[in-house]
Parts: sequence; C-alpha cells; structure tokens
Amino acid sequence: MRTSYTDVNCMVSNINRPHPDADSKSAKVWSLSFKPDQETAFLFPYINGVLDDALWYEHPEHVTFLFEGYRCVLYPDLAAVHFFETRQGALAFIPRFMNYLETLDRDKERILPNLNQIRHISVLDIFRLLPRSNCRDCGFTTCMAFSAAVAKGKAVADQCPGLAQPMSESAVYPVFDSQGRLVDSVSLKIDTAGLKQRILDQEKQIRMLEAQFIPFGGSHGHMPCSQESPGNLDPALTHREIQVLELIAQGYTNNEIGQHLFISPHTVKSHMIHIFNKLNVSDRTQAAVTGVRMGMI
Ligand code: SF4
Repeated sequence: MRTSYTDVNCMVSNINRPHPDADSKSAKVWSLSFKPDQETAFLFPYINGVLDDALWYEHPEHVTFLFEGYRCVLYPDLAAVHFFETRQGALAFIPRFMNYLETLDRDKERILPNLNQIRHISVLDIFRLLPRSNCRDCGFTTCMAFSAAVAKGKAVADQCPGLAQPMSESAVYPVFDSQGRLVDSVSLKIDTAGLKQRILDQEKQIRMLEAQFIPFGGSHGHMPCSQESPGNLDPALTHREIQVLELIAQGYTNNEIGQHLFISPHTVKSHMIHIFNKLNVSDRTQAAVTGVRMGMI
C-alpha cells in the first residue's frame, strides 16, 4: 500500500460549542479531505474487522470509523476526516493515517476480515417486520428505537426474538486475488429453514424427555433455560444465551464466539449484556462462575 496522496483540502467552519478562550460559544474547526494515490477499498473488510466502531456501507461504498479520536470516512479513492482544532493538526494527521493504512495492509494476513456490509433500509420497513410489542427483549426500549438502530447498523435483526423467519438467507464468501488479497465478496442465497426446523424439533424432543425424567429423579441438576418458559426461572437465560455462556466459560473471545455460532460480534455483545444483567455480574469470569454454580452450563 502506497502512503502518498494528493488533492488535500482543508476547510474551516464554525460550530456552536463552549470555547474556553472566548465569550462566544462558536468555535472554528477544520475538516480535511484528500486522495490516497492507491484505491483503498480492499482494506475495508479489515478496517471493519479490527475497529469496533467501524461501519462498512454497501452503497455508496465507504467505511466510517474513529482513528485517534477523529471521525474518518474512507471511500475507495477519497478520505474525509473531521474535526480538528487547527489547520496544522489536520495536515499533520494525514501521514499518520496513511501509515496506519499501510500497517493494516501489511498485517492483513493476521486480521480476520469482517464482511458484513450495511445496506440502507428505511426504519419504517424494518419496523413493519417486528411484532411491535415493545417487550424490550432486544435491549431497546421500543420497537421503533430497535428499528432505527438496525437501520444504522448498531443492532442486528436477530436480536428481536419475535422477528419472522426470513424467506431465504444469504451467505457472503470472500474472493481473493492471486496474492491472497481480499478483492471482492460474493453473496449467495441459501436456505436454512429446513435445518432450523430440524433443530427446533430436536430441542422440543429434548425438553419432553427432560420433563419425563424430572419426576423420577426429583431434580436433574441442570437448570432448564428456554425462551418458552421464562416465568419458571430466575434468571431465565435463552437457549442462545446459554450457548454464548458456555463458550465464554471455555475462554473464547467475542469474535470466536460469533464464528462458532454464525452470528456477528455485535450480536454476541448484545447477548453478553443480557447475560450480565440476568446473572447480575459485571465480567465474563463472574458470568462463567455463576453459570457453573447455578448448573446452567
Ligand atoms: S424484542 Fe422485538 S418486539 Fe420486543 S421491543 Fe425489541 S424489537 Fe420490539
């Protein structure tokens, strides 16, 4: 990756905010744009993979993220960054930014790319798919707030347990060039409805067998945790949360848990927040210990 660039533009504007050196609440800030000499789109999945707050948009293709505390928007042939307190600060930022991209390019063999791209869907379209009960199981106070978060890529659809089953799903496969660089991704439709139904049937059968054994053993030593019977349990973890808790106890990271369960790191985080709240713990170790102590895992 070349670190050279051209077409530097530094624009000044006024924003309203408290300024320690002036009576006025208006302060000058600088925004920056420049053109890297080499297209940067091949780095987007890696930026998306390493920076927690990165969002990779499908159309127009760009990735947004924070670097050194500055909000960066990277298009394939253009970078825009804001806000700087001085023009010098803005100009001095560019070489550090380009060096970071070069480091990413060099280290990309060791980075797990995140191929999730955000496609713009209207908040209302998402809202129409939801049960609209405002039950808060997704971690948001209303269905509308959840819809807005999904539209912005801050939440994923499967956080709402009541969302209808998709008619079809797609899997994204990476395409590499001859040097092993990720150059594209191909999305293919897959049908997981049959598989999901088989899993649901098997889970139902397991619950029936468990119910038959309880009267003979008095207690079977394993706390039943399912979405269908939350009223019996305190705390009631869903089946998916139990799976996440088991992987936490085995020492897996969020990314690794996501790969195991075929869910995004955002979803893993959301499950972890629910687990922590339900178990009344504040870290992974406490969660694992509590889970073992209560016979959940
Ligand atoms: S879990 Fe679903 S139904 Fe409940 S508040 Fe969230 S979006 Fe609405």
